[in-house]
Amino acid sequence: MAGTSLLERLVSIYYDDPIRFPGLRAVTLAQWMLESGRGTSGLATAHYNLAGMKWRSEMAPYATKVLYLAHDGPDYYCKFATLENFIAGYWAFLNRSPYSGWEEHTDDPEDFIGFIGKTYSGSDAYAAKVLALLPEAEALLRAAAAAPADDAPAPAAADAALDLGTLVIDPGHGGTQPLPGSSPNNAISVSGVKEKKLTLDFAFSLKSALERQAHGAGETLRVVLTRSSDVNVAGRDRAQRAFTTGARAFLSLHFNGNANPTPSGVETYLRAQENGNINYAEDLAFAQAVQAGLLSGLRSVAPGTKDRGVKPDTQTQHSGGLAVLSDINLGNTTSGRRCVAALAEIEFITNPAVDARLVSGPDALENRTAVMESLATALRRYLHP
Ligand SMILES: [Zn+2]
Repeated sequence: MAGTSLLERLVSIYYDDPIRFPGLRAVTLAQWMLESGRGTSGLATAHYNLAGMKWRSEMAPYATKVLYLAHDGPDYYCKFATLENFIAGYWAFLNRSPYSGWEEHTDDPEDFIGFIGKTYSGSDAYAAKVLALLPEAEALLRAAAAAPADDAPAPAAADAALDLGTLVIDPGHGGTQPLPGSSPNNAISVSGVKEKKLTLDFAFSLKSALERQAHGAGETLRVVLTRSSDVNVAGRDRAQRAFTTGARAFLSLHFNGNANPTPSGVETYLRAQENGNINYAEDLAFAQAVQAGLLSGLRSVAPGTKDRGVKPDTQTQHSGGLAVLSDINLGNTTSGRRCVAALAEIEFITNPAVDARLVSGPDALENRTAVMESLATALRRYLHP
């Protein structure tokens, strides 16, 4: 596959998102497909705004304001830090006064789009255009719900020299419930975006970059995410995906936070020898590759990015070791298989300059993609047999 498209990423999040009116899921997706050219518009790819929503002050909890040159001239639009924020923001957008009464029109998709469509677009023909895309939207949602578990064996590569195997990417945190080895959220960005939303978005971006790069290079690479929606997963269960998928490497993505806005920089953790790492040297080489890939990507968008280095997990708040880096949880044995594992703290989202660069500023998505492309290159190089 040539990488996961923005529309596919949106569908994978939206199909089981607990929205208030599930009966309107397909029609709203159809509307976003129309507005964004199936996820290909500039507003969609640069700002995660797939609904052409102009900036309104009521959108401040969900979005930031960005100047965008649309086909009808420059105007201020909503910029969303993640696709999850976009979904929440769209529903909030309808709660503004121009749409008052919309909740009386939620029993069927046609009634709903008929009611909001005219105000939304200024055109009487809008509802019919959205409804024409409804079957396609329904099919996409059905396909996402029926997607097979990716724990099945990876397809064999035609050429063993180009088979990079399986990589597990673990978007840190998620959901609302604390679980052993995984809190629902830690850091919150200066602009109010939760770490758990960013880890998922960066993971999707990394998966997409890896698949696109591998496809271009003729390599086989299977990328598995430990979660693809806003749910928490226990630390042990995240690591165990490495075992059940036969992965060669496991990478957990996180963001740092601090009460002081000054700290910044990237650091990568590995299982400490004191915490019983049975493949320390291999983990160290992997962590160094991750750190180097992130650092070069971050420095391509911010040359002064601080290298905080590769560190043992004795230096985290969990001095006894991080559950996701445990050899037992990863299914590693001294004589048998050994999956390497690392946990990256990509940057301090509590630093205002970092927030502008990677979370809320006009170039945030472009910068984010550049950082994940660089990490993807480093990971592929590491995985080359
Ligand atoms: Zn974290």
